[in-house]
Amino acid sequence: MISRLQIDRERGVTVIASVGALVTIAIGVFGVIAWHSHSEWLWITFSGVFYMKYNTALGFLAAGAGLLACVWRERTLTFAGAGIALAIGGLTLAQYVTGLNLGVDELFLKDYWYPDNPLRGRMAPSVSIALTCIGLMLILLIEDNKKTFSRVMAMEVLSFAVLAIGVTAVVGYLADAGIAYSWGTSARVSKETAAGFVAMGLGLVALTWQRQSARIARMPLWVPALLCFTVLVFDLSTLRGTAVGVGYIPIIFCSLWFTQPYMAFIFAVVTSALTLLGYFAAPPSHVESWIVLTNRALTIGALWFVATLVFMRRRTELRMQGYMDQLERSNQELDDFAYIASHDLKEPLRGLFNHASFLLEDYQDKLDEDGVRRLKRLSHLSQRMERLVNDLLYFSRIGRAELAIQETDLNGVIDEIRLMMEATLTERQARIIVPRSLPRIVCDKPRVTEVFRNLITNAVKYNDKAKRVVEVGFREAVNTRSGPEWNVFYVRDNGIGIAAEFYDEIFRIFKRLNNTPDGQEAGTGVGLTFVKKIIERHGGRIWLESEPGKGTTFYFNLNCQRKEPTRQSHERDVIQVPVHSHS
Ligand code: ADP
Repeated sequence: MISRLQIDRERGVTVIASVGALVTIAIGVFGVIAWHSHSEWLWITFSGVFYMKYNTALGFLAAGAGLLACVWRERTLTFAGAGIALAIGGLTLAQYVTGLNLGVDELFLKDYWYPDNPLRGRMAPSVSIALTCIGLMLILLIEDNKKTFSRVMAMEVLSFAVLAIGVTAVVGYLADAGIAYSWGTSARVSKETAAGFVAMGLGLVALTWQRQSARIARMPLWVPALLCFTVLVFDLSTLRGTAVGVGYIPIIFCSLWFTQPYMAFIFAVVTSALTLLGYFAAPPSHVESWIVLTNRALTIGALWFVATLVFMRRRTELRMQGYMDQLERSNQELDDFAYIASHDLKEPLRGLFNHASFLLEDYQDKLDEDGVRRLKRLSHLSQRMERLVNDLLYFSRIGRAELAIQETDLNGVIDEIRLMMEATLTERQARIIVPRSLPRIVCDKPRVTEVFRNLITNAVKYNDKAKRVVEVGFREAVNTRSGPEWNVFYVRDNGIGIAAEFYDEIFRIFKRLNNTPDGQEAGTGVGLTFVKKIIERHGGRIWLESEPGKGTTFYFNLNCQRKEPTRQSHERDVIQVPVHSHS
C-alpha cells in the first residue's frame, strides 16, 4: 500500500522537477529569441546577463522539454530531448578534448555578438559537460526499470554534476571568481545558464531520489556529495596549512546509511583523494611543507580508521539482518509446514474414525468384548488426534494470518468473556475482578479476547480454592528481572500455582503439567501456546510469577498503541466489578 508520506514525496518531487524543467525551457526560449531577434535593445538591456550561446539555448530547450517529458513518463519525447542535449553537449565536449573544430559551434547560427572571441559560438567547457550529463541522465531516468546500484550511482553522480556546475558558476559570479565560471577559457558560463543548471540540477536530483530504491541507501547520494563539495571548496579557498580534513569524517559516516558495507572504503578513497587534491591545489601558506604533509597524512589515516570501523559495524549489522531474515523465513516455512501437514492429516484421520465407527455399528455382535473395547479405544484416540490436529492447524493459522487491527475497549472484552463463561463461573464459584478500568488499545480484538479468555479459563481451571478469584488488571510499569516493562496487563489467580522449573515449558505446544484439581475435562495443552503466539504477533511478550499452592500471575504487554481509557478518571477507582452472584 502506498502511504500518505510517499504520495506527498511523489508530489513534491514532481513539482520540483517540473519547475526545474519550466525554468530551463524559459531560459532557452529567451536565448533563442534573443539570438534570432538581433536585438540591440536586448543586448544593451541585458548586457550583464546575455552571454548565453545559441547552442546552449537550444540545449536548454531540449533538456527542459526532456525533463518535463520524463516527469510525464513520455518515453519518446524524453529520448528526443536527451538525444539533442547529448549531441550538442557531447560534440562540444569532444571539441574541447580533441582540440578539433567539428563545426558545431556555429552550425545553426553565426555568432554576431562576440567577433573577438577566439572560440566563436562555443559554449563553456563546463556547460558542455553539464549538457552531456543531462542527456545521459534523462536516458537513465526514463529507462529506470532496473534499479541496480551502479545505475543509481551513475544517476546520482550525473545529477549532482549538473547541480554542482550551476552552483559553482553562481557562487563564482557572487564571489567574483572568474575561474568558477570560465574554467580558464575565453568561453564562460553566463548568469542565466548558471541559474538554469541550478534549476535543472535540483529537478534531476529530486527525480533521482524518487527513483532510488531503499535497497541501495537510505539517504540521497547527493548528501555526501554536497558535503564533499563544500569541504573541498572550503579547503581550496583556505591556505594549505589549514586543517580542514576533519570535515571529511562526517562523509565517511554517511556510508552507515548505505546497504553495502564497502561503501565506507569508497568514501575513504574519495575523501583521501580530495584531501590530496586540497594539498596540491590550495594556496601555499607560510607553514612548513612537512607539517602540512604530516597533517594531511594524519587526516587520511583518521579517515581510513573511521571507514574501517564503519565497515565492520555495517558488516555485522548485515550479517545479523541475514540471520533475522533466515529466521523469519524458516519460521514462515515451519508455519506453512504445520498448516499443510495438519490439513492433510485430517482426511485419513476422519477415515480412520469413520471406519472404526462402521465396524462398531455393523460388526459389534461378531466381535468379542476385547475387540469392541479396542475399537472404542481406536475411535476415541482418533477423535483426540483430530483435536490435536485442529489445534495445530489453528496454531499455524495464527502465525500466517494478518492481524485485524482495530481500536478495542478491553473492559468490553472482559465483559464479553464474563458473559461467555457465565455457566462455568457459576458452577465453579469463581469471580473475575477488574480493580481498575482497563485502557483502550489498538489491537486484533478477537485474538486479544482469546488471550484473556485462555488465561481466565486456566485461572479458573487450575484452581483448588473454594472461592476462585481471578484478577484482571493493567499497570503502566512493572519491574521484572530483565528490567522494567511498560503497559503491562496481568491475570492473577489464587489457584494451584506453577513450579518455577515449568515456567518455560507450559508455553510449549501440547505440553500439559497436571490435570485440573476437580477432574474437569483435560485440555490439549495448546492454550498458552496460542496466547504466547498471539502476544508475540502483537510485538509483546508474556511472563509469569507463581507460588505453588498460592496462585499465579501471568503478565503480558502487547506493544500496541494505547488510547485514553473509556471510563472517566473518577470512575477508574471502582475497585471491584461484581461478577458473580455466587461469589
Ligand atoms: P491446557 O489448559 O489445555 O492443559 P495450556 O497451554 O492452557 O493447556 O496450559 C498448559 C499447562 O500449564 C496446563 O496443563 C497447566 O498445568 C498449566 N497452567 C496453565 N495455567 C495455569 C494456572 N493459571 N495455574 C496453574 N497452572 C496453569
